[in-house]
Amino acid sequence: MSKDVSVELIACLQELHLPTMQAEFQTLALAAQQESSSYPSYLLELAERECQQRRQKRTERLLKESRLPLAKNLQTFDLKRLPTKVVQQVRTLLTGEFVQRQENVLLFGPPGSGKTHCCCALGQELVRSGQRVLFTKCNALVQALLVAKRDLTLKTALRRLTSWDVLIIDDLGYVQQSREEMEVLFALLAERYERGSVLISSNLPFSKWEAIFKDPMTTAAAIDRLVHHSVILELNIPSYRIEQAKKNQSKTEDE
Ligand code: ADP
Ligand code: MG
Repeated sequence: MSKDVSVELIACLQELHLPTMQAEFQTLALAAQQESSSYPSYLLELAERECQQRRQKRTERLLKESRLPLAKNLQTFDLKRLPTKVVQQVRTLLTGEFVQRQENVLLFGPPGSGKTHCCCALGQELVRSGQRVLFTKCNALVQALLVAKRDLTLKTALRRLTSWDVLIIDDLGYVQQSREEMEVLFALLAERYERGSVLISSNLPFSKWEAIFKDPMTTAAAIDRLVHHSVILELNIPSYRIEQAKKNQSKTEDE
């Protein structure tokens, strides 16, 4: 390739914002020459590398924005611990079709059963397929909404939260929240209703949600909105932490 062509090509690729093609066109041109590849297959290889790089960058950006704890991923999640029905449900959810249908996912189970890990693993896989996901602890979310309410920016805050493809609200009802706190949470659920998927984990079955939403009407309305289009995962299994602790203990006893 002549020097003039290279210089002009670099300028063009810069103007077109194609940094990977710019970085790799010379090396790939040499390889193509040696392998006698056709012009289109050379161009295809180069374009594919640009696309790949872009997808990777986008995934990295989305993962950062999502605030998902990265260690809780699908590779570190032992699906064999889950009831067979839940494994099937998780596999279906991993296809991401529920996000297109704007369905919700509700995960129930005792502390340590793996609700948070399951949400996060699912969230990360959705990010990798290009979805915009936000992970929040219910308490932190509610506190942020209360601050927004105080600053008279609740509407904007709620609208911003509806822009995510998937909103993960972890640990609903872990602590007994006040009425004001629940009002903002309810406002969020109402705002997102049929506009995007919500993934909620909770230690409390629906029958105890009145402790969260305070009065029977609000509780029924919240459950109604969430359940309308939803998948319910019941992780009625023992705590992973306790199981691990027991295993470790019996190991030390054996030694
Ligand atoms: P929960 O949210 O239901 O209280 P967590 O998801 O926080 O439970 O799980 C508790 C701990 O056990 C975490 O460190 C988590 O990574 C681990 N854990 C739970 N279930 C599994 C599993 N099936 N495979 C691997 N680790 C698990
Ligand atoms: Mg949890």
